[in-house]
Amino acid sequence: MLYLTPVNDLKLNIFEEINQSPNGPRSGVLKTRRGDVKTPTFMPDGTRGVVKSLTAEQVKSAGIDIVLANTFHLHIQPGEDVVAKLGGLHEFGKWQGPMLTDSGGFQVFSLSKLRKITEDGVTFKDPVTGDMRFISPEISMQIQLKLGADMIVAFDHLTGLDEESIKDTQEAFDRTHRWLERCIVEFKKLTKDMKPEERPLLFGVVQGGLDLSLREQSLKIIQDSEVDGIAIGGLSVGEPREEMYKVLNHLAPLYDPKRPRFLLGVGDPRDLRYAIEHGIDMLDCVLPTRNARHATVWVEGDKQIHLTNAQFIDDISPIDPGCDCYACVNNYSKGFLRHQFKVNEPLAGSLASIHNLRYLQRICESYRI
Ligand SMILES: [Zn+2]
Repeated sequence: MLYLTPVNDLKLNIFEEINQSPNGPRSGVLKTRRGDVKTPTFMPDGTRGVVKSLTAEQVKSAGIDIVLANTFHLHIQPGEDVVAKLGGLHEFGKWQGPMLTDSGGFQVFSLSKLRKITEDGVTFKDPVTGDMRFISPEISMQIQLKLGADMIVAFDHLTGLDEESIKDTQEAFDRTHRWLERCIVEFKKLTKDMKPEERPLLFGVVQGGLDLSLREQSLKIIQDSEVDGIAIGGLSVGEPREEMYKVLNHLAPLYDPKRPRFLLGVGDPRDLRYAIEHGIDMLDCVLPTRNARHATVWVEGDKQIHLTNAQFIDDISPIDPGCDCYACVNNYSKGFLRHQFKVNEPLAGSLASIHNLRYLQRICESYRI
């Protein structure tokens, strides 16, 4: 099996570790071409180039520093060429801070019912037009570069946790690393005329399902390759929480201290804390904003409350008196929010989204020095 030749000649010193307790939480600074970001940090999903129902200023007001955008969705609609003509991701959604795009792989594997995987890439049915389309490691790199993200992710072969998928774990595992090699070659080609400090950062994805030995091997392969950051994929996809914790616990002492570590798709406050306490620097998830649009918010002690409950009908208190988000500081009452949710007023979802994002970022900030 051909794996990457170990290189380890990273040109950029992109992560400054401020403190590190052995195998535990660390505080640091991630250096991107659009500025430094303190870690740990939570990154909301701007699925279609914007965090749903929020302006860039509102996202910023929650203490957010990095926004994630979905390559798959933007590729399907309106297409990376249109985004590029509109000035690229930052001009498109008016978010001037660092942005990260995922590889598109997660949606190709999770949203598209009809797909065919070969060594070349994945052929899948466009969920909008019904046409057959094709995405490969090279195409994923091209799309992400064209979108203009500051951090991009290698295209990997994701497997599910059903029996059929588990049988494919080894094959997907090997393919993920072969595809990484192709991503790196294409990435270098596309960025060859950029100065080192002007190019985006590339993250390789650790796979291996719930198999600790495969996870360890995958991490080693990724860390031996020419990537700037380490992404942990394929977790929080329906497995019991304890199984995810076993993987995070196993990997914690094995990370390269010089590189940022990004856990994909985790946003429950308990999981966020566990991940950070096991060395993770960056996390993303649709959970805080999706929950918020459905009137579910987190309050002190990681408890969830449902703002549409009858008990809040005449409640004059904010969502969480201890919270410093825009909604709570301006004392938008639970009674007001309950009413606006009941009559489908979008402002309620926006205010709840700001609160939930702030809730997660406050957890991250509590681990920073
Ligand atoms: Zn709040």
